Amino acid sequence: MKKRKVVLIGTGFVGMSFAYSLFNQGGVNELILVDILKEKAEGEALDISHGLAYCPNNMEVTYGNYKNCKDADIVVITAGIAQKPGQTRLELVETNSKIAKDITKNIMKSGFNGIIVVATNPVDIITYVVQKTSKLDSSKVIGTGTMLDTARLRYMLGEELDVNPIDINAIVMGEHGDSSFVPWEYCNIGCKNILDIAKQKNKSISDLELIRNDVKNAAYEIIEKKKATYYGIGMALTKLVKAILDDERTILTVSTYLNGKYNEEDIYVGVPAVITGGGVREILEISLNEADQKKLDDSCQLLKDTLQKITI
Ligand code: NAD
Repeated sequence: MKKRKVVLIGTGFVGMSFAYSLFNQGGVNELILVDILKEKAEGEALDISHGLAYCPNNMEVTYGNYKNCKDADIVVITAGIAQKPGQTRLELVETNSKIAKDITKNIMKSGFNGIIVVATNPVDIITYVVQKTSKLDSSKVIGTGTMLDTARLRYMLGEELDVNPIDINAIVMGEHGDSSFVPWEYCNIGCKNILDIAKQKNKSISDLELIRNDVKNAAYEIIEKKKATYYGIGMALTKLVKAILDDERTILTVSTYLNGKYNEEDIYVGVPAVITGGGVREILEISLNEADQKKLDDSCQLLKDTLQKITI
C-alpha cells in the first residue's frame, strides 16, 4: 500500500502547530520535518514522536532534507519570518519571497511532483512566487489564503449569534491581509441568510462590518499579546492537507490562481474553491455586487503592486 507522505518545511510556531494538529488527527503515515535549523527540526521530531504511545494514529515523524520531497504527496511551506507587533503581512515580502524561491528550487530539484501548500506570509504573494518558481500546474500550488480569516469570521459570528461555527456558512475573500472583505449576501447561518437575520434584529451591514473589522484586526491583537499566531493556522493547514489527501471535494477559501475568473488576471488571491486529491479542481465564481467586486479589484491591485517590488 502506498504511504501517505507529507514534508513540512519550516518547524517554527506555525509549522509545528500544523504538525501537532495533523499528528492528533491522523491520516498521514509519514511526516518529515525540514528546517534551516537542523537541530530544531530534529528536536521537534523527537518531541512529537514521544507522544505516539498516546496517539490514536500511527504516524512516523522524522527530520530530513529536501531529498525527502521526491516521493512526497504534499510539501507544506511555513518557513520564513513572521510579523512583529504593528507590522503588516505585506512588509515581509522581500525576505520571504527570497526564502520561498530558494526552498522551491530545492523541492523541485528532488524530482517532486505532488502538491505544494503554502502558509508563509504574505501568503498570496508567496504562493504566486512558489508556483512561478516550481512551474507546477497552478491547481497544484495552493495557499491557505483566507482560510484562517474565514475561520475567525465563523467563530466570531458564532459567538455573536450563539450558534456553532460549523453551521455558519460565511467566507472572507481577497488578500489574506487588511484588504480582505466579506461578501455578506453569501453568508448563511444554517440555511438563513445573515442579512435577513440582521434585519430582524434591526441591524445593518455596518453592524456586520464591525465583526469583519475584528476579524481583520485579530492577528494584530494576538501578536500584540503573545507575539505570534499559530494554532488557528495550524488547524487550517491540517484541514487543507487532509482535504487533498482524502480527496474531500470540499470548498475552502484558499489562495488560488485567477486568470480570468472574477475578472482578475495573473494573481493568487483568496476565493472559494473545490479541493480534491488533484488540488484545486474548480474555482467557485459567485456574482459579487458592485461594491464587493471593487473590494476584490482593490485587493488584487494591492497584491500586484506588491509583486512589482520583488523579482521572481
Ligand atoms: P517562526 O519564526 O516561528 O518559524 C519560521 C521557521 O522557518 C523557523 O524555524 C526558521 O528556522 C525557518 N526558516 C527560515 N528560513 C528558512 C529556510 N530558508 N529554509 C528552511 N527553514 C527556514 O515563524 P512562524 O510564527 O512559524 O511563522 C511562519 C510564517 O507563517 C510567517 O511568514 C507568518 O507570517 C506566517 N503565518 C501565516 C498565517 C496564514 O494565515 N497564512 C498565519 C500565521 C502566520
